[in-house]
Amino acid sequence: MKSVFVYCEVENKEVAEISQELLSAGKRLAQKLGCPLDAMVFGNDLDGIESQISPYGVDKLFISDDSKLEPYRTLPHAALAYKVLKEQDPQIVLFGATSVGRDLAPRLASKLNCGLTADTTILDIGDHFVKKEKKEYTDLLYAIRPAFGGSIMANIINWDMHPQMATVREGVMKKEIFDANHKSEIIKIDVNDVLNDQDFVVEVIERHIEESGVNLKDAPIIVAGGYGVGSKENFDLLRNLANILGGEVGGSRAAVDAGFIDHNRQIGQTGTTVRPKLYIAAGISGAIQHTAGMQDASMIISINNDPDAPINAIADYVITGDLGVVLPKMIKYYKENAK
Ligand code: FAD
Repeated sequence: MKSVFVYCEVENKEVAEISQELLSAGKRLAQKLGCPLDAMVFGNDLDGIESQISPYGVDKLFISDDSKLEPYRTLPHAALAYKVLKEQDPQIVLFGATSVGRDLAPRLASKLNCGLTADTTILDIGDHFVKKEKKEYTDLLYAIRPAFGGSIMANIINWDMHPQMATVREGVMKKEIFDANHKSEIIKIDVNDVLNDQDFVVEVIERHIEESGVNLKDAPIIVAGGYGVGSKENFDLLRNLANILGGEVGGSRAAVDAGFIDHNRQIGQTGTTVRPKLYIAAGISGAIQHTAGMQDASMIISINNDPDAPINAIADYVITGDLGVVLPKMIKYYKENAK
């Protein structure tokens, strides 16, 4: 059976988190289909890179290692990926919904004439009956993503074009090592066999990487505030609590829009997806676009003065009250009891 394929992003010899998430999701799909999982990685100085990729259960790994392939440029990566996909003819191809994936995947979809579902949050396998043809198509990719402002989850199925391609949002797929000792078959691609001068017409003259200093995705504890926090100054309460607990501060979009907190701390459908051990939601109502980004937290504590706030329905503990009263009490308690 044709494989599930993952395009892996790599920089400074590190395979990106999103690619590890895709490999895990790709393996789950491949197991459902009973087919191989294959991957490709293009970059510089990639000796031993397979030790980061093979444990996800990759059967064939295509590697192109050349100083010209880092930093990422569209044309050389697209030409290499096109060659691999054309020859291997997989049934499913996954990219991260990152700036690289969003640049590369549409270009390849157009070259392969196959279509692409962008920004998926759930991947599955299923069947589809096409009424017009009176025909049942089986083992299709279900590329599921929020649509119409998050009011519905759309299941996008591509039964008549090939391969089925999707970009997947960062942080939504669970990372899962398949077998730490798994070995992949390595296929090396020499850039000189595939690329020509035309592929290098774009030159990267300078790169400036801005460190945001915010790492919501890996934070074990997040204290998040919503519009109910009321002001930028009141967010100090959340910052205090987060400091004592060793966590990060996040917020809802309404809090971001009101200017209470920076955009890079937004959690939800159009912000970051998080999966912390503890999520404290203060003054957040629990709109679907917010909960989409935090509902997988191991434990949720809601602080809200409305006992019927929708977030309470998914919270493990609900504190009904004014956050201006509750948060100082929590800070005092944790300060006294912190070791
Ligand atoms: P509100 O809904 O206004 O809720 C405030 C809450 O605070 C209420 O429950 C209230 O009871 C409580 N409260 C008020 N005062 C106090 C007090 N003193 N003490 C305790 N509780 C109090 N939203 C996101 O968060 N993330 C996203 O990524 C996101 N993406 C979106 C994408 C699209 C396309 C659209 C259309 C919307 C998106 N939204 C997103 C917006 C979302 O629909 C909600 O509007 C938003 O989440 C509401 O934020 P909130 O809960 O902070 O504010």
